[in-house]
Amino acid sequence: MLKLENVSKNFGGLPALSDVSFEVPQGLVTALIGPNGAGKSTLINCTTGVLQPSKGTVSFQQKKITALPAHQVARLGIARTFQNLKLFPRLTVLDNVLTGLTCEGGSSMLMAMLRLPYLRHRERQLKLRAMEALDRFSLSDKADWPAGILAYGDKKRVELARATVSQPDLLLLDEPVAGLNAEETAEVGEQLRLLRSAGHTMLLVEHDMDLVMEIADQVVVLDSGKCIATGTPEEVRRNPLVLEAYLGR
Ligand code: ADP
Ligand code: MG
Repeated sequence: MLKLENVSKNFGGLPALSDVSFEVPQGLVTALIGPNGAGKSTLINCTTGVLQPSKGTVSFQQKKITALPAHQVARLGIARTFQNLKLFPRLTVLDNVLTGLTCEGGSSMLMAMLRLPYLRHRERQLKLRAMEALDRFSLSDKADWPAGILAYGDKKRVELARATVSQPDLLLLDEPVAGLNAEETAEVGEQLRLLRSAGHTMLLVEHDMDLVMEIADQVVVLDSGKCIATGTPEEVRRNPLVLEAYLGR
């Protein structure tokens, strides 16, 4: 479904990613792991049009998406969360989640005006879907709150609701349970399991190894911007290069 070929990214001459190649197969969960600074977030950013790779290509469903801006990537059915939360703090929780559906909401102003009666009906449907997404993350009672005043764990789950509300073909999650308490982690883990059994394709950046081992079909390991291993969770766990990357420094 997603294919990266020799993706490299330099920041001011310093390589953050060097010739990274791997594939994310449809319907499976691929975990992307590696020590801090390995380049995991940079890779997600290069895949979603937030950053341009310095070199290499990214393809989604056989179509090259390397040069596309982020909003066009989103329109293709790729949704993501950010490691450092990116909510609109003054918008309500519900409106933040609705922004996850905007690419479905119509096109030009003129078209929108002509389609107003239809859109009014549509808006109710969109709100309903957004409320369902909030409900899945136990947030419906905070739908009218400004997102900025939420506690960290709630913000994190609003991001997940926003990323999943459109039922994207491909979901990229950058450390979805980092900083969450045990109860919140269990809840998010359960939602990820549900998404997985519903056949969603995911690329999951995660440090929680228990979650990775349980939920991932394949694991890709980055270290210092290089892909040092790919395989099943068991294969990767036994790989000496991976053990060295995590423990050998
Ligand atoms: P990870 O998500 O695996 O912890 P990152 O992708 O955030 O790693 O970072 C990889 C490397 O790239 C790090 O050395 C980091 O300092 C650097 N880096 C990331 N983003 C930027 C940026 N916008 N400008 C300069 N350097 C960056
Ligand atoms: Mg990161």
